[in-house]
Amino acid sequence: MSTSAPRDDVLDCLVIGAGPAGLTAATYLARYRRKVVVIDGGRSRARWIPASHNCPGFPFGVAGDELLQRFRAQADEFAVPIVPTRIDTLTREGGDFVAGDGQRSWRARQVILATGVVDRLPEIDDAEQAIASGVLRLCAVCDGYEARDEAIGVLGPGEVALGHAEFLRTFSRRVTALDSQAGDAPDATLRQRAAAGGIALRGAPVRLAWREGACLATFADGSSERFDTLYPVLGADAQSALAQALHAAVDEGGELRVDSSMQTSVPGLYAIGDVVSGLNQISVAVGQAALAATAVHRQLPPNPR
Ligand SMILES: Cc1cc2nc3c(=O)[nH]c(=O)nc-3n(C[C@H](O)[C@H](O)[C@H](O)COP(=O)(O)OP(=O)(O)OC[C@H]3O[C@@H](n4cnc5c(N)ncnc54)[C@H](O)[C@@H]3O)c2cc1C
Repeated sequence: MSTSAPRDDVLDCLVIGAGPAGLTAATYLARYRRKVVVIDGGRSRARWIPASHNCPGFPFGVAGDELLQRFRAQADEFAVPIVPTRIDTLTREGGDFVAGDGQRSWRARQVILATGVVDRLPEIDDAEQAIASGVLRLCAVCDGYEARDEAIGVLGPGEVALGHAEFLRTFSRRVTALDSQAGDAPDATLRQRAAAGGIALRGAPVRLAWREGACLATFADGSSERFDTLYPVLGADAQSALAQALHAAVDEGGELRVDSSMQTSVPGLYAIGDVVSGLNQISVAVGQAALAATAVHRQLPPNPR
């Protein structure tokens, strides 16, 4: 534990990102009586959740927007400032971190990165509306249960699409993997595996459209197929560039590697939520936030009353 004298102009901790992870971490830190600021670009993935039914404490479901408002209200209750802007640079100066948005800068002893991921969406008109309507779903762990017995399409590179399709067989007998990398004839090995798993396998559709609660996929041969739900599994871009600029270790997908207290390979730089390698879920994000915030508090100079 550091014993150097605290400086007034330096934050105890800067939290970058105000999704479930960042807001929870900030609430914990404020309740540890630490000087904390949250900076947020306003693009939480949670804003897209039409209704979550696996979020602990909400037995009848909760919309993502409402959930975010509740997390914000809780941080607000402990007077956490939330600044709406995007951090472009994160550097080290002396023992501190300095984060900047091009106009302002924030200096902090420790940083928690809660910047999430950005989903890669398929080419379909009004993708955000399709997500809001529940036709396009981005997380089978989250809402596979809600797609029970539906006609489900899973669009992505062959292996990945098939893997997700196998997962979705828990919920429906009518699952089709759409290999985004194959034309009309998907790979023979994949076809065998699909058949063994009770999954239909097709090549990439040439066009996707959605209306009246369903997604219509049109194929190169002129045929089309209607899906009640389409899960694109085209990947997501981890928002880890700020940490990578400080040489923090990442996995092959660019998500940050952390230790058991959520510290990255850069001392004093913590990462939580979707930007971290692991399961992208709200319950995971808030658990990681509790771990990181408590580790940060213990790492800072003591603040006795
Ligand atoms: C359609 C959909 C449905 C889902 N349903 C569920 C569900 O039912 N249950 C469940 O558990 N999970 C669900 N999820 C997943 C859940 O939304 C995420 O796991 C959760 O939002 C992750 O929280 P986070 O705080 O890590 O990241 P996010 O909520 O994505 O927040 C990250 C924040 O960081 C900000 N940011 C990024 N870079 C910067 C920067 N440089 N400077 C400043 N700010 C920055 C972003 O703008 C954003 O506001 C769903 C996701 C989607 C897309």
